[in-house]
Amino acid sequence: MKLDSLQRQVHALHLELPKYNLAVWTMGNVSARAPETGWVVIKPSGGRYQDLRPDNLVIVDLYGNVVEGDLAYSGDTRTHLYIYRHRPDVSGVCHTHSRFAATAFAAVGRPIPCLLTGMSGEFGGEIPLGGFALIGGEAIGREVLRVIGDSKAVVVQNHGVFTIGKTAEAAVKAAVMVEDAARTSFYALQLGAPIPIAPDDIAKLHDRYSNVYGQRA
Ligand SMILES: [Zn+2]
Repeated sequence: MKLDSLQRQVHALHLELPKYNLAVWTMGNVSARAPETGWVVIKPSGGRYQDLRPDNLVIVDLYGNVVEGDLAYSGDTRTHLYIYRHRPDVSGVCHTHSRFAATAFAAVGRPIPCLLTGMSGEFGGEIPLGGFALIGGEAIGREVLRVIGDSKAVVVQNHGVFTIGKTAEAAVKAAVMVEDAARTSFYALQLGAPIPIAPDDIAKLHDRYSNVYGQRA
């Protein structure tokens, strides 16, 4: 894929974040790894969503050297790059401070429980919790990978959500689904004690969603 086409794709995915209430003002970011070069396309630092253009997304190598772009890259770039360097299966990362529920779980330092069939299908279990880490270096990336296991998402304590995927679109989809699951869990916890789903039923639901659900060639 040409880099300008990846920039267009990552730009369009950024616009999904405010649309799904996953970001306000300049918060949140999406990146994608280019398959040919391994370079990463990411949001500029402090960029407001309405001012983003495909050609002002920054292109960096896996060590944070700028390949193309006039603007400084996102303050979360080191986290994205740490994940890409340690997970060759990942080519998309998304970070949100979603406006309602998942970030509230981060504030109280709780994983998001797996209480519904939809969440079982998408995630195969709870969204794990990573500990507190300061922004800017590699500490958040280390914390994300320490707890993520087979999950597509991590709640980082006192901060927000990081999601990963084989593509940037898959990472953004996971971010939308995390917030949806967190919101329902939040209401369920207000209503009373949620009914747990047996772990092997969660595994079966996840397997079905991953291998049977949807249109297959
Ligand atoms: Zn953040």
